[in-house]
Amino acid sequence: MDARLEAIRDTVLARNPGEAEFHQAVTEVFESLGPVHDRHPEFLEAAILERLCEPERQIIFRVPWTDDSGRVQINRGFRVEFNSALGPYKGGLRFHPSVYLGIVKFLGFEQIFKNALTGMPIGGGKGGSDFDPRGRSDAEVMRFCQSFMTELYRHIGEYTDVPAGDIGVGGREIGYLFGQYKRITNRYESGVLTGKGISWGGSLVRPEATGFGTVIFTGEMLKTRGSSFDGQRVVVSGSGNVAINAIAKAQALGATVVACSDSSGYIVDEAGIDVGLLRRIKEVERGRLKDYEVRRPGVSYVDGGSVWDVDATVVLPCATQNELDGDAAARLVRNGLLAVGEGANMPSTREAVAVFQEAGVLFAPGKAANAGGVATSALEMQQNASRDSWSFEHTEQRLTDIMVGIHDLCAQTADEYGEPGNYVLGANIGGFVKVADAMLAQGLI
Ligand code: NDP
Repeated sequence: MDARLEAIRDTVLARNPGEAEFHQAVTEVFESLGPVHDRHPEFLEAAILERLCEPERQIIFRVPWTDDSGRVQINRGFRVEFNSALGPYKGGLRFHPSVYLGIVKFLGFEQIFKNALTGMPIGGGKGGSDFDPRGRSDAEVMRFCQSFMTELYRHIGEYTDVPAGDIGVGGREIGYLFGQYKRITNRYESGVLTGKGISWGGSLVRPEATGFGTVIFTGEMLKTRGSSFDGQRVVVSGSGNVAINAIAKAQALGATVVACSDSSGYIVDEAGIDVGLLRRIKEVERGRLKDYEVRRPGVSYVDGGSVWDVDATVVLPCATQNELDGDAAARLVRNGLLAVGEGANMPSTREAVAVFQEAGVLFAPGKAANAGGVATSALEMQQNASRDSWSFEHTEQRLTDIMVGIHDLCAQTADEYGEPGNYVLGANIGGFVKVADAMLAQGLI
């Protein structure tokens, strides 16, 4: 890392103790940015990096609610409004027991650059809670969401901060959150949340967008080597929103997705995963992946273990941060891996990324590859602002154009900085320069 940037990074780490994921995300971005500061010393003079690493606002609040047995439960809520240089804060809410400030800050920090890469007018933010929706009834989830929004509502708005979903927050949760916002404010402010239902202000393609976009980006990378998804053997981690839609798109393009996972284990289905069945189990019945094995002959379910033990030519990590380590990366590379597309945020450890890059494997970092979700959220905001709703085909074409544009920006930036094929560098520099330019123009705030 450039010595000037290393000193700033060390200060950031010291000012934010105990936030390992935030440290990792900052370090990874800083490692790319040395050459930009050679060309733009004005960014250093204006302390752009120091300002970027300090969120504009951080909100932490108590979320009290009662469970079905009448017991009082207390969770912690977060919203980190990181950077509004390019537009209102935009980023999802994560409900998972592992959520604490360091996770929210890593996600919010990544979101700044991701949102810049989309070319849409959106700043970066993220939020969530340590609430675990798994095993909770609909009524409990509703009471939790209502309590969460009873505090959050005062901080958000269509021109201020626009949350969406992430792990543990899907259409059901967005519905309860939107209902409570509307009730408290007495405003039908569609643009305050994205990921809404189609009949009440949502956008077609938003549910599919992150997974579809990840596959589109990865397909563009494969194209640079004269290849495509057709005939690839693919392994996907996770079996949530991003994973299911990545599986659907990869198979529509001719790949065979042979494995996917949840936090309990993974399935191997050599014939190619039956997406209809997987959707029914996960989205309708809210079941577990092991239910898939029972319903489809010839499938094996591995309790525990790592889905990365299954060989593939393309892998799409779509579960969570740091789920693919250096050892797993080395094993995949030995067994013929061509490309990695990160559907999740920071799923590969720094060691894993180094293994992929040294081996010449095509590697798409999450902040570029999974930007289709937030880009389509911005399209949802556009439709809300114009009180319009677009067709599936039109919206999917917009998503495709945006993903191809992000790919090309990353590839061209990597070329321009003398590291062709380095999508990590391309994404970090491509996103950073847009935000830094806007921050310079807007003065010291
Ligand atoms: P979901 O809640 O729909 O699904 C998450 C999946 O990942 C589940 O299969 C879950 O398994 C698994 N998972 C979650 N945490 C862990 C863990 N600690 N260890 C192992 N497996 C885990 O979330 P999404 O699909 O929406 O999000 C997946 C990833 O994609 C996240 O990194 C998210 O930040 C990122 N992302 C999501 C976007 C979106 O539009 N939704 C946009 C951009 C990025 P289990 O059910 O067992 O917990």
